[in-house]
Amino acid sequence: MPDTVLLTGASGFIAKHILLHLLGAGYRVRATIRNPARADEVRAAVLPHLAPEAADRLAFATLDLERDNGWDTALQGVTALVHTASPFPIAQPRDPDDLIRPAVQGTLRALTAARAAGVGRVVLTSSIVAVVNEAKGFPQDETDWCNPDLPTTTAYAKSKTLAERAAWEFVAGTPGMQLTTINPGLVLGPLLDDAFGSSVGLVRRILAGKDPMLPDFAFPPVDVRDVALMHLRALERPETAGRRFIAADEPLSMPQMGQILRAEYPARRIPTMVAPKPVLRLLALFDPQVRSILPKIGKVERLSNARARSEMGMSFVPAAEALKATAASLIGRRLV
Ligand code: NAP
Repeated sequence: MPDTVLLTGASGFIAKHILLHLLGAGYRVRATIRNPARADEVRAAVLPHLAPEAADRLAFATLDLERDNGWDTALQGVTALVHTASPFPIAQPRDPDDLIRPAVQGTLRALTAARAAGVGRVVLTSSIVAVVNEAKGFPQDETDWCNPDLPTTTAYAKSKTLAERAAWEFVAGTPGMQLTTINPGLVLGPLLDDAFGSSVGLVRRILAGKDPMLPDFAFPPVDVRDVALMHLRALERPETAGRRFIAADEPLSMPQMGQILRAEYPARRIPTMVAPKPVLRLLALFDPQVRSILPKIGKVERLSNARARSEMGMSFVPAAEALKATAASLIGRRLV
């Protein structure tokens, strides 16, 4: 009988790719969704890429990060927990707790139920936003931590940092439980269906050509297929326990993204010009999305992926290829 993995947030962009890898590797997967009506959507995204017998190894459970119902039962008989579910909105909410509460309490709910069920192995999808230390220069690596108390730390970065910290603290106090975190940059790459999250939404916004200029801010993309593979490798390599792993390629600035996409789709009106900082300051007065990136203008966030290369044997899809794959999916599916 193959091992059973509980995968939370299975309706998500990244989780569908993780599900594909887990089923492809022969695991049984109990996939959690908060809306049971979305089980068919998840099946339809993943199963056509696999042998027909994979369908027999996929089951669903309905769980909400903010409710206790169902967690204990869902973790019964499970060998490992892969926890990806966490809110990732494109704009920061008015009340940061709208993100922090489900992220932190949801992580603790998952871990508490795992402990009660005797599940010893946990892989958590964190983020580079839990790594980047605004007070330091770049490059940074897994030894760095975001300071959630800085006024410039967004609600999302705070939610991911506090959730990851809570997970490490929980595991430190739980003998026999082993945690690996995967800390991805901007996750791009092909879509498995028409549902997409905020990172793909950013590419869609550039492709849609509604913004005349783009902010000069560079951060590292990573292909979703690499992110999914890292979750699988974490599960399969016991030596990754107790470690954080950055999943990121070389940084791209938003105007560079515009240039790459313009070269691919010359007939589209894709912006490539750098938005001057005074203009952004003005826009930030009205647009919370612009406000949240203002402190990052002019910065190049470069994160080392050396640990993932050496300890997980990863070789990353180049950022430009991941970006082009996102665009091809969006255009091929007529989503932009
Ligand atoms: P996504 O497509 O928006 O997926 C988020 C998942 O979390 C969805 O399945 C969503 O369920 C679930 N979720 C949110 N709030 C929930 C709640 N209260 N109860 C139960 N489930 C809830 O985003 P994604 O990009 O795949 O992100 C997945 C994970 O990767 C998140 O932890 C995110 O922070 C992390 N991450 C993403 C990126 C990136 O660039 N995409 C980078 C670094 C880290 P519904 O479908 O029902 O809303």
